[in-house]
Amino acid sequence: MRWENLTDDDTGASDAHGRTPDAALFGADAVTTRTVDTPEFRGVTFHEIRARSIVNRVPGASRMPFEWTVNPYRGCTHACVYCFARNTHSYLDLDTGLGFDSQIVVKVNAPQLLRHRLASRTWHGEHIAMGTNVDCYQRAEGRYRLMPGIIEALRDYANPFSILTKGTLVLRDLDLLRQAAEVTEVGISVSVGFVDRELWRTVEPGTPAPERRLDVVRALADAGIGCGVLMAPVIPFLGDRPEQLRETVRAIARAGATSVTPLVLHLRPGAREWFMAWLETHHPYLVRRYERLYAHGAYAPTWYQRRVTRQVHELAQEFGIGPTRSGAARRIQERAEPAPGRAGPEPTQLTLL
Ligand code: SF4
Repeated sequence: MRWENLTDDDTGASDAHGRTPDAALFGADAVTTRTVDTPEFRGVTFHEIRARSIVNRVPGASRMPFEWTVNPYRGCTHACVYCFARNTHSYLDLDTGLGFDSQIVVKVNAPQLLRHRLASRTWHGEHIAMGTNVDCYQRAEGRYRLMPGIIEALRDYANPFSILTKGTLVLRDLDLLRQAAEVTEVGISVSVGFVDRELWRTVEPGTPAPERRLDVVRALADAGIGCGVLMAPVIPFLGDRPEQLRETVRAIARAGATSVTPLVLHLRPGAREWFMAWLETHHPYLVRRYERLYAHGAYAPTWYQRRVTRQVHELAQEFGIGPTRSGAARRIQERAEPAPGRAGPEPTQLTLL
């Protein structure tokens, strides 16, 4: 495995010291590999890393609506077939298919590194986004408990932050999130692209069920921490029928989400091959349609994205999902403009979740 010359995430972020993506994050002598033989983690291997940096800068040219990210894990046991972070595993000479789902890199010193960085005189309290590469509340977090230390550091330095997740584990840290929200801006978003259980079981096999994720939205709302929903991905021909969109937006509204932002499936290299192989197995009759829809790259055509976005916005209005409250925390699914001349996704494509 190559454990040096890494960038932290597939946004091409450089680290907080301005080092380029070529800068080494991990020392080759700092890797401890553990295979955990408990039923919960059977078949999962953890690579415990002492990272050299944890706060990463998104390049200025990026379309991401945030500049700084923290990602304590690489790889994700949530195992979404379409996950765009899959390709990042190839940087480690790890497999981007099953390897991404089961070979998890854990930056065990993430809380200490973050606290150190926040204390630095060169840090100016910028917003930090989490869950931008892989899910920081994936199942591994139940074992390693890195997020409490991370949130505590952010709370202690009153540093604004946002989290995007599919993990119900975020509720474990509800008290800490509440404490942080008293001193700084905290934005939580949950990703729910559809509520179709059959689709969920096959395409997001390691994730909590959509209704459990919506319970998270509800619990956060009850706790006074507004939560938006990133309705992602909307999967063409499998999750985009009008009645499916309606059912999903209605469930999101009932959960008390402060906002809903649709995002159509995109298929970057790494994710594309894995997703198409899955499609061939589960829905072979759709392969040709997908090849046509994604003939020009990673994104579905603009007309298709616009149609889905319009439908969801109309449904959101019908079900009374309001815009993000004025003064509420910045949420990481805010819209971003496509780069000039590029047919990007309708809402920002910042996230895999
Ligand atoms: S899409 Fe998100 S939750 Fe799913 S595997 Fe990727 S990082 Fe994990």
